[in-house]
Amino acid sequence: MKPQCERCSAPLEPNAQAYICSFECTFCPTCSTQVFRYVCPNCQGELVLRPRRRPQEPNYAVA
Ligand SMILES: [Zn+2]
Ligand SMILES: [Zn+2]
Repeated sequence: MKPQCERCSAPLEPNAQAYICSFECTFCPTCSTQVFRYVCPNCQGELVLRPRRRPQEPNYAVA
């Protein structure tokens, strides 16, 4: 999973909301919904909500 939006470079944590296409182009919710309108600008594919990882994941760090 990519750690940031491919358009605006906003950081996308593994358990944060993000959108991907079938080729795993990854964008933040703002770019996906307001700029691209759920269509990937790279491949014209559909952008859908990325599945989030569980917070119990070993490398999940909590202060
Ligand atoms: Zn973005
Ligand atoms: Zn794409």
